[in-house]
Amino acid sequence: MLVDVFQQYESEVRSYCRAFPTVFTKAKGAYIQSQDGERYLDFFAGAGALNFGHNPDLIKQRLIEYLQEDGILHGLDMYTDAKGHFLEILQESILKPRNLDYRVQFCGPTGTNAVEAALKIARKVKGRRNIFAFQGGYHGMTLGALACTGNSYNRKGAGTALPDVTFMPFPFGPMKEIDTIAYMDAVLSDTSSGIEKPAAMVLETVQAEGGVVVAPVEWLKKLRQLCDKHDILMIVDDIQVGCGRSGDFFSFERADIIPDIVTLSKSISGCGLPLAIVLLKPELDKWQPGEHNGTFRGNQLAFISGAAGIELFQSLNIPAQVAEKARLIETELQSMIDNLDPRMELRGLGMIWGVDLSPLKNEKLIDQITTNCFEKGLIIENAGRKGQVLKLLPPLTITQDELLTGLHIIERAVKKAL
Ligand code: PMP
Repeated sequence: MLVDVFQQYESEVRSYCRAFPTVFTKAKGAYIQSQDGERYLDFFAGAGALNFGHNPDLIKQRLIEYLQEDGILHGLDMYTDAKGHFLEILQESILKPRNLDYRVQFCGPTGTNAVEAALKIARKVKGRRNIFAFQGGYHGMTLGALACTGNSYNRKGAGTALPDVTFMPFPFGPMKEIDTIAYMDAVLSDTSSGIEKPAAMVLETVQAEGGVVVAPVEWLKKLRQLCDKHDILMIVDDIQVGCGRSGDFFSFERADIIPDIVTLSKSISGCGLPLAIVLLKPELDKWQPGEHNGTFRGNQLAFISGAAGIELFQSLNIPAQVAEKARLIETELQSMIDNLDPRMELRGLGMIWGVDLSPLKNEKLIDQITTNCFEKGLIIENAGRKGQVLKLLPPLTITQDELLTGLHIIERAVKKAL
């Protein structure tokens, strides 16, 4: 198969494939393989959809068994044993031990649809149109979620107005110098601020596409208090950094806060099958039957794999693994930065890390680095303003040796580019 097939027949909208111009055929664990037999370490992991790596054995086995027994593949949102089992294990293994009382809404199978559902229910419950989103945030490409996404390139693609969202400062860059919580409090308290009180605030506790920007714990706690003070719902979009990526199952656990609504997708199915859910406090579950409907709200295979993924999260003790590997990543990357150019900035937590090259003021470097990495057998993407942040998202189950191999490739790639 030639790459030309895609260049000739596939829409120009294709994206990630442009940085990795080869045809992939197989994948296992932290590796993905091209048709010519090249093996690439995968530090992109399906943009966070493969927290357990490619084709984890337990999940693959459960899927094969389910298919062999002629388990239901498509069931709209009927009651099925696959869905029931997923609901039970999510409640028993994840939510109840964390004292989280949430109803589970199954929506369309992409992250952006979960965000749409969260925004709709927040507006419906509070009877207000406005939403606060944060500068640098990313929530998806459908119009409602896109209206909450800061990136101007993505927003331009809408071709229409993206109304009823007000952007607030996230504690990053120049905005770190101001008291963003006090600013929001002032805006919300001033009847002449010109900014409508929102139904909800939607945020990532670690802005991922925004360039790996970690919200401080104190800021998250104060934001929760601010929402309570002004009767505003807090929606945490945990689509990219949930399911263990931050070190806990949910990224907000580190701040000891409880959002009113949580969106999950990407790694919730355990192996990259499409699945998205909204967790909402029971008193917010004011939906009428079918009010947020959809044909594909019951990906049965994803329920099977998602239940197995939760088993893996428990049996592999993912939080302990992530804590250990986070230390390794941080130490290695910081020493690389100290050796090569201390102006680069390292940010991250758990197993999402970013090396920010913007202080180097050479926008072309980043593409050279990702290309060098690819040539040396590593898949890695960039993120952030003008794509200036090298973003590491390895599978959480990657071995220490594989992790070190990838980190050394990065070091050589950065050195060469510099
Ligand atoms: N929210 C966040 C935080 C994301 O990272 C993404 C995807 N990168 C989305 C929403 C949208 O998910 P999807 O691409 O599955 O629509």
